[in-house]
Amino acid sequence: MAELILENAVIVNEGLSFKGGIFVKDGIICDIFDYEKLGDRDRESALLLSGCPAMDMGWKYLAPGVIDTHVHFREPGSTHKGCIASESAAAVMGGVTSYLDMPNNNPPAITAASLKAKADIASRDSLANYGFYLGGSDFNADEVAAADASIACAVKVFLGASTGGLRVKSPVAMHRIFESSPLLIAAHCEDNDIMEANLARIRAQYGNHIPVKAHPAIRTAAACLASTQKAVSLALETGARLHVLHVSTAQEVEFLSRVMATTDHITAETCVQYLWFDESDYERFGAQIKCNPAIKSAADRAALRAAVRSGIIRTVATDHAPHLLSEKEGDCLKAASGIPLVQYSLLMMLEMVREGEFSIPMVIEKMCHAPARLFDIDRRGFIRKGYYADLVVFDTAAPCDVPPASRCGWSPVTKFSSSILYTFVNGNPVFAGGRLAQDAPRGLQLKYTNR
Ligand SMILES: [Zn+2]
Repeated sequence: MAELILENAVIVNEGLSFKGGIFVKDGIICDIFDYEKLGDRDRESALLLSGCPAMDMGWKYLAPGVIDTHVHFREPGSTHKGCIASESAAAVMGGVTSYLDMPNNNPPAITAASLKAKADIASRDSLANYGFYLGGSDFNADEVAAADASIACAVKVFLGASTGGLRVKSPVAMHRIFESSPLLIAAHCEDNDIMEANLARIRAQYGNHIPVKAHPAIRTAAACLASTQKAVSLALETGARLHVLHVSTAQEVEFLSRVMATTDHITAETCVQYLWFDESDYERFGAQIKCNPAIKSAADRAALRAAVRSGIIRTVATDHAPHLLSEKEGDCLKAASGIPLVQYSLLMMLEMVREGEFSIPMVIEKMCHAPARLFDIDRRGFIRKGYYADLVVFDTAAPCDVPPASRCGWSPVTKFSSSILYTFVNGNPVFAGGRLAQDAPRGLQLKYTNR
């Protein structure tokens, strides 16, 4: 389909929403029609296009596709629970048109060659556009120093332990990574010493069968704050650009708001689960909502929602982390950490719009525009002439109950008040009418500019 008009939509883009249409040619947005403002020239070009195939969007919302900047698609190494083919399919079913995949694979993605191998798999299998983080380790400071935007979207460092054992344990190595990385550093911040001391205390209380609800008493707010403070001070000392991942506490928000008043080198992400759940939900969902960092109190959740509104939280992602339900069984020490949400993040945010927490333009800012800006993603994340036609169409008045497409086969949430109607990747309707297109073209590798 070389040419296509998407007509009769409510376009949400860059803080505005207006009735209009979009002309797509060869996968690129070639014109945007604002029906109220159609001047003579646009009216003429709209008439000229009248022979081109058109899809009626039925006055539903049309926005840039979501860019999920934090996913774990598990390939290579753990493809029994997720792979690039299965998880990218789940992504486009949720309106996600591009994703940035984390390096804690097996083997870990800590060399340019291993990132190239992942890109080769994605070029064959990925329904969405893709990019990859280079993992920082105790031994790869030279790889990090040599990385550029042709290799990776950013460098990921684990300051605390989580799935996959990629933690940088040596303070010297961590310093070198911060000092030498030419790319943005994205950090998982939880302090291991604090978590280990907490665990010893909780073990004394419960023995070896620690209930899942104790997870936030091990992975505490104090552990998050101490580690975030450490990462920020390293960034300030070395001049690195730092993105603090999955901020989960009011304390970090308060600390970051003070830091951000003095520098624009430090930004923060949260993930939908921290905006949606609080610790009272462990009773109902158990280990299904066990993730790292832990979901914490209702007060933390309220502070995070406020931080999304105020701008302290720049991006909202998912930390999509599939595990089989069998791997999520057992107590706090046994059940795997991670929630598979890439398919549901936009629907979750739209649910919070209904509750009055956010506006739709704000959701698009946090999930589409800000990710594109922060990672300097080339010509995506906005509805602009000359940009790729990565688009999502959603209906906020059509409830859905969509089964999870992730290979892991489950999700703590599936029912929403809104539905995803279409997802266009590079102009192709990869998801439409509740189905994935057969033989859809593969997504493209993301490119990064201004570096
Ligand atoms: Zn993660």
